[in-house]
Amino acid sequence: MNGPTPRRLWNYVTRRLRLRDYFQDPGDGRRQPQIPAGVLLWALLLGQLLRRSSFHAVEALARSSARVRLAIHVPFGDDTLRYFAARLDAQRLRQALAEVVHRAKRNKAFDPGRRIGLAVDGTGAGWRTRQGCTLCRPKHNPEEQILGYQHHLVMISVVGTGLTLPCDVEPYGPGDSEYAAGGRLLRRAIANLGKRFAQYVVVDGGLATAPFLHTAGDLGLRIVARLKENLPELFSAAQQRFLSQPPQVVFGYGKDRVEVWDADDFDPWMALRWETVRVLFYRQHKPDGTVVQAYWLTDFPAAEVGPQSLFHMAKSRWEIENQGFNEAKNHHDIEHIRHHHANSLVIAWLVALMALTIERLYRLRYLHRGRHRVASSAQLLLTLWLNLSRPCTADSS
Ligand SMILES: [Zn+2]
Repeated sequence: MNGPTPRRLWNYVTRRLRLRDYFQDPGDGRRQPQIPAGVLLWALLLGQLLRRSSFHAVEALARSSARVRLAIHVPFGDDTLRYFAARLDAQRLRQALAEVVHRAKRNKAFDPGRRIGLAVDGTGAGWRTRQGCTLCRPKHNPEEQILGYQHHLVMISVVGTGLTLPCDVEPYGPGDSEYAAGGRLLRRAIANLGKRFAQYVVVDGGLATAPFLHTAGDLGLRIVARLKENLPELFSAAQQRFLSQPPQVVFGYGKDRVEVWDADDFDPWMALRWETVRVLFYRQHKPDGTVVQAYWLTDFPAAEVGPQSLFHMAKSRWEIENQGFNEAKNHHDIEHIRHHHANSLVIAWLVALMALTIERLYRLRYLHRGRHRVASSAQLLLTLWLNLSRPCTADSS
C-alpha cells in the first residue's frame, strides 16, 4: 500500500466527503484570527489520524519540515490551538460528522439487507484532581470527601451495518444524568441524520429507563435494551418463565452454539407506557465450554423480527464498546485532557470521533476498491508515516 498520504487524505476529506465548505467555515469563535480556522481544524484531525493528538504534538507537526506534506499551510503554537478549541462551534462539527455518516448511507457503504442501528452508551473520560470546568463531576469517598473530578459523556454510533461509525457525543456534568444526556443525544442525532436513517437503538441496562425508551419511540425508533436487575419485576418474571422451559431456537454463531428463549407478553413496569414487553434470553456456548448469557427487552414485534435477527441486534451493542470507546481511548487518547475547558473537551471528543469515522470510511471502503486487500488501521497508520518521508511530488489524486 504505497498510496495513502496525509495530502491524499486531505483531498479525500474535502472532495469525496465534501467537507471543503465546512473546513473553510467551521464556526470559528475567535475575534481576530491570524491562522485560518480550517488550518487548525485540519491539524487537529490529522493529529488524531496520525495518533499524535496532544496540542504540543500537533504544534510539532505544524512546525516540522513535513508541514507541506501534511497539508498544513502555516505553522502555529499550542496556545493558538487552545484558544481556537475553546471557541470552536461544536454544533457545526456535529452536523459535519452527521453529513459524513449520512453520505456513507447514501453511497451504500453499509452492508446490504441489514437493519441500521444506533448504539448509545456512556463512559468516563478524563480525570482531574482539581475542579476546572463546568463539566467536572466530583467523585467522593465513603466519608464524602472529594477525591477528584471525572468527566462523563454519552456516545452514539452507527452499528449493525458492517461499519461502526461513531457520530456524536453529549457530555453530562454535575446534576445531570446518563439517561437525560442519552435522550438529548438521541434527539439531536435524529435531527441531524433524519428520521428514517436508522431502524433501532441498542443500549445497555443503565439506559433502559422509561423516559429514554419513550424518547426512542417518539423518534420512530425501535429499542433493543439489555434487561438487568435494575428492572427487578420484569427480570425475575423472565427468569422464572424461561429457566423452566427448553429453548425455542438453536443456531450457530461463528463457532458458537446459541440457544434462544423469546416471548412477547410480559407486563411492562409501572412507568413504561408499552402494552406488553417482549423479552429475549440467549445462552451462547463457546467451543471451550464457557457460556455467555443475557436478557434483552424490545418493542420489535415478533412478526417483524425473529429471535435470530434480534440476537444479532443485541450483539451489535458491543460495537460501541469495542470500536467506539476502546479505540477512542486506546488509540485516540480521549481520556487525555488537552485543555481543561468544557468546550475544548467536547471538541476534542468530537474530533476523535471524526477521525475514527473518516479513517474507517477511507480504509474499509475507499482504499478497499478493486483488488486491494483491506488494510488494518495499524497498517494505514504506518503507511501514512512512511509516506511522509518520500519526496513530495505533484499530487492530483
Ligand atoms: Zn472539568
